[in-house]
Amino acid sequence: MSSKETTRMHSQLPKQVDVAIIGGGIIGISTAWALAKAGKHVAVFEKGVLAGEQSSRNWGWIRCIGRDPAEIPLSLRANQLWRDIQQQVDVGYRQLGLAYLGESAQDKEDLQQWLDTVQAYATPARLLEGTDIEQVLREPSTRPWTSAAYSAQDGVAEPHMATAGIAQLVRELGGEIFEHCAVRGLRLQQGQLTGVVTEHGEVACSKVVLAGGAWSRMMCRNHGVFLPQLKVHGSALRTTPLTTQLQLPINGKDFTCRPRSDGGYTVSKLAASVADVTPDSIRLLRWFFPAWMAQKQYLKIRFGRRFFTELFTPSRFALDTATPFERVRTLDPGPNLTSVQEALRKLQHAFPVFAKAEIAQAWGGMMDVTPDALPVISEVAAIPGFFIGTGFSGHGFGIGPAAGELLAQMVQGHRPDIDPKAFSLQRFQRGQSPQ
Ligand SMILES: Cc1cc2nc3c(=O)[nH]c(=O)nc-3n(C[C@H](O)[C@H](O)[C@H](O)COP(=O)(O)OP(=O)(O)OC[C@H]3O[C@@H](n4cnc5c(N)ncnc54)[C@H](O)[C@@H]3O)c2cc1C
Repeated sequence: MSSKETTRMHSQLPKQVDVAIIGGGIIGISTAWALAKAGKHVAVFEKGVLAGEQSSRNWGWIRCIGRDPAEIPLSLRANQLWRDIQQQVDVGYRQLGLAYLGESAQDKEDLQQWLDTVQAYATPARLLEGTDIEQVLREPSTRPWTSAAYSAQDGVAEPHMATAGIAQLVRELGGEIFEHCAVRGLRLQQGQLTGVVTEHGEVACSKVVLAGGAWSRMMCRNHGVFLPQLKVHGSALRTTPLTTQLQLPINGKDFTCRPRSDGGYTVSKLAASVADVTPDSIRLLRWFFPAWMAQKQYLKIRFGRRFFTELFTPSRFALDTATPFERVRTLDPGPNLTSVQEALRKLQHAFPVFAKAEIAQAWGGMMDVTPDALPVISEVAAIPGFFIGTGFSGHGFGIGPAAGELLAQMVQGHRPDIDPKAFSLQRFQRGQSPQ
């Protein structure tokens, strides 16, 4: 789908909408879909192209396995919504099942411990052992997999198709989508939210959803809203098409892989993530230090050019002239090739059938993370009508449609089907640091 054919012209900017959405990733577009289904006049503003950032760069996993219990209701609801979406438009959704594999007694204990924490939610997840694992994998392996947390209801969608597909549903319902149209900020009059200021003009509205991914903190900071959020760099590669019996996503600790609908595999590993030291990581040190310690086997901390790039990026700016949002249309960090090549080697060792796999492409993406790795899905108390859906911490694609539905219910003042308390912005407000 070419963006030229589908994007509204900037000269057609509406004067007024019910809800303005900042960001055309999976969260912004899913929110727009839920609001458009409810009959709301909605406009999405994307500074670059739809899903240009995280939403097209992820692994494509849709999983309940391994999630924080607080996110399980969203992941169960998302499964229903993905099925519904796939019936209307091809987003590559397939319910293939998904497994986290273990080798040692400690791995089994960890997997069982996670299963125990989500027991109350009636998930389809269960522990597999012995030949049950072989039956699920179907491909001979050299590794002694002795345990697996498995869910038959988990699956995949194709990131390069998903947001564009849901956007098509939004347009069919009358929703408007503007690409290359950055929102510079909120228009506030005597403390009241009255609209958004875009680079092509103002649009009046009393409700705004910020789904700006890695840019959300910058938008919040400019309006005096404290959002502790940092960027973490992730990488992945895809192989050329390959015939194997392995037909579900697996996490083997030192590699991950999932079958793609083009016949290849997306390959990476949990430990492919790098957190650059930036001025924000120093400002937010006390919020993120415990998370960095807990994640240290998966996360590399690096000091480099990004420190200076961010140091010289203004954090406060006026809305009547070009803002940082217009200067970087798409965050496009290169991949950490060493790390993903290593993951492919581990996969080839574990499953010899992958010996013939060749790298077709490798890429990087910037994940937006919060201190507790849970998203913010919340109204901002200080600015009534301003809602945030961000901070999905490397796992927002799979739950995206459900997070969008939850945001839409909150925006309309409906009682949400899923309790949003764990995702409240308020959890970060106590004893907050300087911004
Ligand atoms: C390598 C990698 C692997 C991942 N794997 C998975 C996975 O397997 N499963 C999973 O569930 N999740 C995964 N994730 C995480 C997932 O991709 C994200 O959580 C999700 O895509 C976030 O969606 P979003 O819409 O919030 O953000 P984004 O997709 O980043 O979209 C935000 C958009 O807002 C736009 N924007 C920002 N500011 C403005 C502004 N002022 N005006 C206009 N537009 C603006 C940006 O240009 C951007 O397009 C992965 C992420 C990465 C990087």
